[in-house]
Amino acid sequence: MTLRTRFAPSPTGPLHLGHAYSALLAYDMAVESGGDFMLRIEDIDQSRARDTWEQKIYQDLEWLGLRWSGSVVRQSDRLDVYRAALDNMWQRDLLYPCSCSRRDITQALSAPQEGVPHYGPDGVIYPGTCRATQSAAQHHIPHDTALRLNMSEAVKGHTLQNTGFRFQETGYCAAGGNQAVEFSASHLVESVGDIVLARKDMGTSYHLSVVLDDAAQGITHVVRGHDLFDATKIHVVLQNVLEIPTPVYHHHDLIRDDTGKRLAKRDDARAISKFRNDGYTPEDIRKIVGLKA
Ligand code: GLU
Repeated sequence: MTLRTRFAPSPTGPLHLGHAYSALLAYDMAVESGGDFMLRIEDIDQSRARDTWEQKIYQDLEWLGLRWSGSVVRQSDRLDVYRAALDNMWQRDLLYPCSCSRRDITQALSAPQEGVPHYGPDGVIYPGTCRATQSAAQHHIPHDTALRLNMSEAVKGHTLQNTGFRFQETGYCAAGGNQAVEFSASHLVESVGDIVLARKDMGTSYHLSVVLDDAAQGITHVVRGHDLFDATKIHVVLQNVLEIPTPVYHHHDLIRDDTGKRLAKRDDARAISKFRNDGYTPEDIRKIVGLKA
């Protein structure tokens, strides 16, 4: 099997040292094994994505010496694919419409019988207010509202329900090698919950798009920051529901600033273009993020 990695930035701001580390690591992994490195532009959030940022991403990556195989995949070109997957899950009664605002959810959770809100990999765990609206009477999938995954249904009757859900992790949390990360169906229901798979404003979500795109691009090894480690559980469930392969995951440390805070897009001081304009070389960047030149 040829190893295939990817870098999947969102064009919503400048790439910084953290992105450079992630992209270079994924690239090195592919090159060292004679595999492929792919590029995907994650631009489903059209309210924040900008063409100018996308162009700057290409410039920065090329300057760093990265070359990608095949053509660049842009999520905004794949909305039909996401919609088809939602239709499929809708037909199988795995989704329900949800009209709750953030405020509705917080209020429902602060009711005395609910106790304190619990957080999962996708934020506050949804209390299930709209779950009852899931009804066979509704034949057509609504496109004017958010759609949530009914997690209990998604894990039910699943072949993995008894053996447990799992993925292979070669980075973060791996004590020097490959490690299987396992979790149960009940953990998914209680600690992840009914996540949104189609946002009202986007018609899709990060979680749904990322698993469909990784499968479509034939990604065998997902290299990304460990802030997405917990979200991988969501991705594994979706891969099982949609019958697509689960790649190996390599979650890496985050690059932090001098005060220990993780870098954000607004940290222009750490932008790759700033280093380039200040006369740094791509080799300097590799050294700064701790990779061999
Ligand atoms: N588009 C995401 C980001 O820029 C990356 C998601 C992923 O690698 O799975 O943070």
